[in-house]
Amino acid sequence: MHEVDLKAASRTRLQTVSFSLILLLAFACGGSTGSADRAATSQEDDLARRRATMVEDQLLARGIRDKRVLEAMRTVRRHRYVPGLDATHAYDDRPYPIGEGQTISQPYIVALMSELANLDPPCRVLEIGTGSGYQAAVLAEMGCDVYSIELIESLGIQARKILDGEGYGDRVQTRIGDGYAGWPEHAPFDAVVVTAAAPRVPQPLLDQLRIGGRLVIPVGVFRQELEVHTRRKDGFKRKKIVDVRFVPMLGEVREAR
Ligand code: SAH
Repeated sequence: MHEVDLKAASRTRLQTVSFSLILLLAFACGGSTGSADRAATSQEDDLARRRATMVEDQLLARGIRDKRVLEAMRTVRRHRYVPGLDATHAYDDRPYPIGEGQTISQPYIVALMSELANLDPPCRVLEIGTGSGYQAAVLAEMGCDVYSIELIESLGIQARKILDGEGYGDRVQTRIGDGYAGWPEHAPFDAVVVTAAAPRVPQPLLDQLRIGGRLVIPVGVFRQELEVHTRRKDGFKRKKIVDVRFVPMLGEVREAR
């Protein structure tokens, strides 16, 4: 009897403790947060899971190994850079239109170019073709100072707003104009990443690399190849990587030499 009473008492204590714990948890999780905020948090969680899957299935599976690139692509909210797109599709294995006939590159291509740039902070990178701002954000998330030039004004303005909203206000500088001449005021760069296909390699971009720095650029008109040009003390070393398909680089690069 005595024993039975003790058990009952401890059961009641246990129930009280669990009840208080549940209350505490409910406050901790819910607290002052409204149901709209909770829904937004759970959507962000879902999108973070989609990013993790993208990194596994599209990047690691295809041989991307640079830890900074993988971590940056797990972090940057790609769905914010494609206005009007259903966020749940932002992590699919494909490019998307961003307006003005331009596109945000496929995640794998962004990762490949970022890896080929071979960056370690402190690093300073020039990007030609800001487009959506996504590639610039990935480079910034890797720990670099990024300078990015966009030819089409409306895209440049839109990317600037998104980059500021996503917290890259300090780490990404943008400019509207023709990227052909680079951004000599901020040279030399550890890397220059061109995200539009050039019919020929712009000499000013090569000239703005530091010794050991790399230009990553799709070259060609009908058939395009991704190339890496590494600056050496005595010139440049060129390496062809893979066939690619980018929108054309416009402006001065198309004028006859
Ligand atoms: N890096 C972008 C991809 C943009 S697509 C992203 O992550 O979304 C290529 C971009 O290059 C387009 O926005 C296009 O307008 C721009 N572009 C084309 N020629 C250019 C030039 N000469 N100078 C600067 N930007 C250029």
